[in-house]
Amino acid sequence: MPLKGSYWLEDSALPSGTTEALPDAVDVLVVGAGYTGLSAARETSLGGLSTLVCDRGLVGSGCSGLNGGQVAYSFKPSLDELSARHGADLGFRVAEEARHALVNLRRLAESEGLDCDWQPRGSFYGAHSARHFAQIVRDAETQPKGLEQRITIVPRADLRGEVDSDLYQGGAVFHDDASVQPAKLLNAVYRRAAEAGATIIGNCAVTAIERSSGGFRVATARGTVRATKVLVATNGYTTSLTPWHRRRVIPIGSYQIATESLGAERVRTLIPNLRNVGDTRRVIVYLRPSPDGTRILFGGRAALYESDAARCVPRLESMLTEVFPSLAGVSATHAWMGFIAYTFDAMPHLGEHDGLFYCLGYCGQGVPTATYFGMRIGQQMAGRPEGRTALDGLSFSTRPLYYGNPWFLAPSIFSYRLLDRLGY
Ligand SMILES: Cc1cc2nc3c(=O)[nH]c(=O)nc-3n(C[C@H](O)[C@H](O)[C@H](O)COP(=O)(O)OP(=O)(O)OC[C@H]3O[C@@H](n4cnc5c(N)ncnc54)[C@H](O)[C@@H]3O)c2cc1C
Repeated sequence: MPLKGSYWLEDSALPSGTTEALPDAVDVLVVGAGYTGLSAARETSLGGLSTLVCDRGLVGSGCSGLNGGQVAYSFKPSLDELSARHGADLGFRVAEEARHALVNLRRLAESEGLDCDWQPRGSFYGAHSARHFAQIVRDAETQPKGLEQRITIVPRADLRGEVDSDLYQGGAVFHDDASVQPAKLLNAVYRRAAEAGATIIGNCAVTAIERSSGGFRVATARGTVRATKVLVATNGYTTSLTPWHRRRVIPIGSYQIATESLGAERVRTLIPNLRNVGDTRRVIVYLRPSPDGTRILFGGRAALYESDAARCVPRLESMLTEVFPSLAGVSATHAWMGFIAYTFDAMPHLGEHDGLFYCLGYCGQGVPTATYFGMRIGQQMAGRPEGRTALDGLSFSTRPLYYGNPWFLAPSIFSYRLLDRLGY
């Protein structure tokens, strides 16, 4: 059987957007039609601003239409790290924003009926060494007040109740986590933006943004548009179009496969509670059952250097059998990849620089955060006070000699693999 692309497109095609002619002028032009750009566009449209969203590909053809669909508390730095950076009060409020993001997506799915195969089954986080298990236990016992998550520790003896694997020394279940079908979420967010009045156009790359009186002249593949405000929502696909932002995000390819259909019973023997699964290794892997519970969807960093998805299949299959040896011989039927955006402080950033609004840098965990911060930056652009966040005004730094090509990635991954093998 020939290998197919993204599994998510099997039951949810990406929209191509409207075929309307490009307007001459708009209040807001958004570059990038993923969760960020579309969530922002809904808010600016609701605020009465004429809004145009352009994507160089199909709507959602960046990460938003193809990610792993795992929903979790999504900031990497701990509260202690954030407090050391910003002081105790702001540090706490910053950490709280990740919780707001999770609550926001849950509200959209559960109360507003967003059609995205929302499955609130939690996730299992495995410890790949005894040291890491001890750390997981410590973290669960000393959760910061006000940021508590519902966590159950799973000792090694009980592992089989969560995963059919000997790879882990134990782990923890995070009950508040969930999963979505990412392309369905994208379509739902797209429909909400369009219903609010935004014009959304696919296959329309923005090729230049020039300052002009009263705003910007924006050149696109389909003509030039005058815009009073512009939002950069390009995340891992940020280019020299916006060099300041490009210097501040690190694009990293993440690769995924879907196994052939295994049947619901076999998937339940591998992951009895059908949760998302991740682990403590530095070279991140993530897996989960497909929404219909018949396949395993597995993703991670499969190569030192960027590659195409099909070439990574053998490596991903072997990484999958490290977790589930019983899947040796099972083939992938689908393979796909996309670029996440890391930042130097491992935090998302939103704000305005040199007249351009931006919202990006979710460090691989943008399903809840891109949807949430996209909404917030849209509210800010519409001048609405509820758009304010604790992340506003935080410094967004780059590094000397970094211009957008992450030359340090391959050596970093190499050393992380080594540390993972040694259990550090
Ligand atoms: C393989 C993979 C798995 C992932 N799994 C998870 C997960 O399980 N959970 C989680 O929380 N997060 C996950 N993520 C991350 C998450 O998908 C992203 O953080 C999120 O989708 C970012 O949304 P966005 O709208 O900011 O960016 P994107 O969806 O990437 O959109 C940016 C858009 O900008 C467009 N663009 C760029 N330049 C231009 C231009 N010049 N003109 C017009 N358009 C332009 C691109 O075409 C693109 O569509 C994963 C990412 C990948 C790649």
